[in-house]
Parts: sequence; C-alpha cells; structure tokens
Amino acid sequence: MSTLPNCPKCNSEYTYEDGALLVCPICNHEWALGSEEANDDNKVIKDANGNVLNDGDTVTVIKDLKVKGSSSVLKQGTKVKSIRLVEGDHNIDCKIEGFGAMKLKSEFVKK
Ligand SMILES: [Zn+2]
Repeated sequence: MSTLPNCPKCNSEYTYEDGALLVCPICNHEWALGSEEANDDNKVIKDANGNVLNDGDTVTVIKDLKVKGSSSVLKQGTKVKSIRLVEGDHNIDCKIEGFGAMKLKSEFVKK
C-alpha cells in the first residue's frame, strides 16, 4: 500500500509521485512533499469550519467569549468586520463596536 498523503486541495487519495513532486490526477494539483503542511502552519488561518480567513473578512463569533481585562462578554453572533490576521495564539486582530481593539482566536469565529 502507498503511504502517500491525500491531495491537500481535493483530499483525493489517488496521488502519485512524479520526481520530487506529488501529483493529484483528480484536480491536477502538484506539490512538493512536506511543503504544503509547512505553509499551512505559517500562513493559512482557518475559522471554526475550516474555511480560510483573509484580511478584511467579516466573521461572526460562534460562542460567548470573555474579554480579557474586563467583565464584558463578547456575545455569540457578534459580527466582526475587517479582521486582520496576525501571528500568535490569538491570530485575529480586530475592532469591535463597544469593545474597541482586541484580538480573537480564529477557532471561535466563522465566516
Ligand atoms: Zn486533488
């Protein structure tokens, strides 16, 4: 049995090696073994549903979140406009009406 990873684009298991590259015959995606995962860790920030987030996106908070340093709670369903992706544990930089500038974790929001 092959131990090749599934296609990172379409998740097909019918991938094959072509020299230094892996190729997916289903969607024609080609990638170098290992590089896709490294990129994932560094750049791609995903929401609670696994959708990729981008700077300027509007997201919705999916659970009540305590706001650090205050007694306020950011309510589930709160819309957050014009997010900015940053590095770190709290990887979304944003401004929320009534709260001001704050940071969120991408796992607690959805597009
Ligand atoms: Zn594919």
